[in-house]
Amino acid sequence: MPDRLGPRFAEPMFGKLTIIGFGLIGSSIARAARARNAAGAIVACDHSDEARARIGQLNLADEIHALPEKAVAGADLVILCTPVGACGAIAEAIGPHLQSGAIVSDVGSVKGAVVSACASHIPARAHFIPAHPVAGTEQSGPDAGFATLFLNRWCIVTPPEGADVDAVEKLAAFWRALGSNVEFMTPAHHDLVLAITSHVPHLIAYNIVGTADDLEQVTESEVIKFSAGGFRDFTRIAASDPTMWRDVFLNNKDAVLEILGRFTEDLSALQRMIRWGDGEGLFKLFTRTRAIRRSIIESGQESPAPNFGRNAKADE
Ligand code: NAP
Repeated sequence: MPDRLGPRFAEPMFGKLTIIGFGLIGSSIARAARARNAAGAIVACDHSDEARARIGQLNLADEIHALPEKAVAGADLVILCTPVGACGAIAEAIGPHLQSGAIVSDVGSVKGAVVSACASHIPARAHFIPAHPVAGTEQSGPDAGFATLFLNRWCIVTPPEGADVDAVEKLAAFWRALGSNVEFMTPAHHDLVLAITSHVPHLIAYNIVGTADDLEQVTESEVIKFSAGGFRDFTRIAASDPTMWRDVFLNNKDAVLEILGRFTEDLSALQRMIRWGDGEGLFKLFTRTRAIRRSIIESGQESPAPNFGRNAKADE
């Protein structure tokens, strides 16, 4: 498996790439596209004055705009990288300004709601092909991005029925150039898969950190002092961007509630095993779950180092 981005293309894949919402994901796309010469010019668009100033200081783009409709002029590829709740209004604003043959995509962690909010605003002369790179960190903003974020990570592309085959392949090739493996799904299936692999785990982390914060019998300093017992790993996830995650839950309601229903039933079963001293039941489940972690490591999606590679030096 490659551990670095490939060499620079002799000719860019896209003439002009416009990235709207230039935070962790948007700036990582820009950095990776620059590193591989995947775009001739990179246009950044962000509504935040602070983000635009930082993009300029870090020299991450060839043009910087506040207004999406200005930023998409002449673009071959437009990627919406804002929180998902903002995508519909942006699609409406850019629709009339898209050039013929432009590909419009996004990186939203939810697909069904983004398709509903955006598809009708993208004119027939352009190609709307949503996608979701399953890669990220708990940090936000243009400083948080890095060129290798997508390396060996999956990017799920959800082309609408009847989408232009060449445009879909061009977008997939772009993500492969950024180091991703590409998989195709329907938006509904994407939303169910991500509800179990990402959305509900985030909700559990937000909940357990909130519960610890509300506890009266255990002090905050005790929670912090003894956090290495497991709590610390939840706090990383629960430190994720509040706007992004508010929008994920508001926009993937059905799938999250479906998985949460299953989760609550399974949690009740565990509660019962503990109450009735069913050690065999607990042991069986914990053995099964250990095997899942092994499969994730074997597939290259996680480091085999103990404790996520923390204290690696101390262990040597
Ligand atoms: P981020 O670092 O907060 O960046 C988003 C940027 O978009 C911010 O600079 C934000 O400015 C700006 N923005 C918000 N509304 C806008 C609008 N209407 N017009 C222009 N700019 C706007 O967030 P991110 O982590 O890159 O996430 C972006 C998208 O990627 C989300 O849809 C998320 O679901 C998806 N995603 C995230 C991850 C992850 O792990 N973070 C992974 C995969 C996919 P303000 O902050 O000032 O509002």
